[in-house]
Amino acid sequence: MALVPYRVPLCKECDSPLSVVEHHIHEYLRRIRPSGKADKPFKGSFRHYTNEVLKCEKCGQRYLAKRDEDGRFQRGRKLKRA
Ligand SMILES: [Zn+2]
Repeated sequence: MALVPYRVPLCKECDSPLSVVEHHIHEYLRRIRPSGKADKPFKGSFRHYTNEVLKCEKCGQRYLAKRDEDGRFQRGRKLKRA
């Protein structure tokens, strides 16, 4: 099986290179007071994960992220604009 040379996926709309979208999540904890109500929130932890979504920085179009057999990002189908 020959390795296909990799090409960075481009936006279908404007030909700009696509980026991987990563979401960062901040988790806040709120202690429960004796009254049963939640106290003020304080930061508990932080984590991030990569969504399988690619986005064009230039025009904002989003695409589903696909991978080839070597795990390299490929442009999937166009996602509807939010
Ligand atoms: Zn674009």
